[in-house]
Amino acid sequence: MKKLIVGNWKMNGGLASNEALLSSVLQGASALSGVELAVCVPAPYLAQVQSQLQGSAMAWGSQDVSAHDRGAYTGEVSAHMLKDFACRYAIVGHSERRQYHGESDEAVAAKAQRALAAGITPIVCVGETLAEREAGQTEAVVRRQLAAVIHTVGHCSSELVVAYEPVWAIGTGLTATPEQAQQVHAVLRAQLMAASERAHRVRILYGGSMNAGNAASLLAQTDIDGGLIGGASLEPVDFLSIAQSAKA
Ligand code: PEP
Repeated sequence: MKKLIVGNWKMNGGLASNEALLSSVLQGASALSGVELAVCVPAPYLAQVQSQLQGSAMAWGSQDVSAHDRGAYTGEVSAHMLKDFACRYAIVGHSERRQYHGESDEAVAAKAQRALAAGITPIVCVGETLAEREAGQTEAVVRRQLAAVIHTVGHCSSELVVAYEPVWAIGTGLTATPEQAQQVHAVLRAQLMAASERAHRVRILYGGSMNAGNAASLLAQTDIDGGLIGGASLEPVDFLSIAQSAKA
């Protein structure tokens, strides 16, 4: 299984800077085989990213999707709309959405189901806060977050991508050690395997201050199948260097 490296631009970018960033990444990515690359961008830029990346080996996606199908939900973007722009992925349940927008496990599960129904692969984010880790609740928290999604999507759980993102490591410069990350990834793998016999093909990404310096040791772990990259995805040299570490 090829590793998957996904950039999460968060609320960054602009027409001119996106074009420059994507063209640098595309140029470097042409020399990379054995790794899959994608970028999840702010919704207003999906058309731009689609037109710049179509025909390349890079995929693209959104950072969220509505839990609703269509209708009176001002400001929301539906899975069908994302499909119109050929999104392959939609991040759901990013900790910034859970924290700042009050997204519950059930809302995240409904979003994952909407994405799957539209033929989009949800990248389901799970992860504990520092307080939860210190209270010894890491496994219980990530298992609860993933269980809600598995319960809702049923046998389709083998179609997910899962991202383990310890909240205390996102954007902080703190990273889980490879051993800490592997321990949680193994828990998530076992949970997925119990839900679907095809779960060995689910990619479980690590996210949280992954950078050019620490990517190789994280990606060398048995159950770390790629990375979800925030800050470093805005720097083409860093993003490409992480992708290089993920090469088969
Ligand atoms: C993220 O936003 O998913 C993320 C992992 O951010 P960063 O790499 O900046 O910690």
